[in-house]
Amino acid sequence: MPIEPRPSVAALEPYQWEDSSVAIAARLGLPVEDVVRFDMNTVPWQLPARWAAGAEALNEYPDTSYTDLTRAIAAYCDVPESSVVVGAGGDELISLIARAYLDSSRHYAVSDPTYSLFAVASDIAGATRRAVPGDEHFRLDRAAFLAAAADAHVTWLANPNNPTGEVLPQDFVREVARATRGVVVVDEAYAEFSGASSLPWCFDVENVVVLRTLSKAFGLAGMRVGWVVASPAVTAVLAKVRPVSSISVVSARLGVAALEQAEAMRTLVRDLAVERQRLASALADLGCRVVEGSANFVLAVLDAAGAARAQSRGLVLRTYGAGHRLHGWSRITVRSPAENARLLDALRG
Ligand code: PMP
Repeated sequence: MPIEPRPSVAALEPYQWEDSSVAIAARLGLPVEDVVRFDMNTVPWQLPARWAAGAEALNEYPDTSYTDLTRAIAAYCDVPESSVVVGAGGDELISLIARAYLDSSRHYAVSDPTYSLFAVASDIAGATRRAVPGDEHFRLDRAAFLAAAADAHVTWLANPNNPTGEVLPQDFVREVARATRGVVVVDEAYAEFSGASSLPWCFDVENVVVLRTLSKAFGLAGMRVGWVVASPAVTAVLAKVRPVSSISVVSARLGVAALEQAEAMRTLVRDLAVERQRLASALADLGCRVVEGSANFVLAVLDAAGAARAQSRGLVLRTYGAGHRLHGWSRITVRSPAENARLLDALRG
């Protein structure tokens, strides 16, 4: 028998990874093209990359400072290059923040429900959780959250939140940041959809870390590029613990090309908001309870037979197990009009 891992890892509940589309298609006896991921919060587009694979020397390692990518990100966010730390998706940066700022002597504040990786990464580090349950509409309990953040070493806040799409006003985010000396992570993975961001003021409060990604509005989840924007005290820490070359040469190059197409992305995002409203009202017309939010997904209580019909046709929904705050709800990613129509057809029977 090999030795046991660290106690915090031994005690960890394993994270449930979603099945692959290939595995789902095989289980249902469907062609893989019929599977639509309504469970991943990804978008139905991929910005046309104006770069042909093969233009980079892949026998060499990446530029470990990712100069071109960092410059393109800084321009997109309108922040100094020195305030940007890049990573292989937002998830890697969440893990790095937990590793740098948390251990078994520390604790973290998190709302419930929110993005589950916050707790997973913090628990792996061995830290103690202060979870703040949302109200009956799953909205953040702001007073309780402020109190929990006050002496937390790390406070995790997704704005808009996943899975509710709730957007918190910037005044409140600033209040949280001012209430604590701990690091306050403002996860803006979905900020392009809500149009609101803490970037314009994040340097006013030294402990704020804004997290962004190319996985959502830019449609490049498979590429794995994310970043944080923070003040020098935090970027110096993250630069120390960051893996030197976790973003491939290919991804770094494609990331620059994608950021040049921010205008095209904004047009697609505007159309998606219209589609989200359409999907939310169609679900409400079916008699479902719906929380629309301001991101690229909605929450709904679906009729069980309709949901089963959708799943059997390869329309994959994010559902929540017994014991989860959202048990009985489905999180539905807004897809293309044709894909959303397939879902609504399945729900109607
Ligand atoms: N934050 C939130 C709130 C998310 O929902 C996700 C993706 N599921 C991420 C961060 C991480 O995305 P990525 O690692 O693809 O950048």
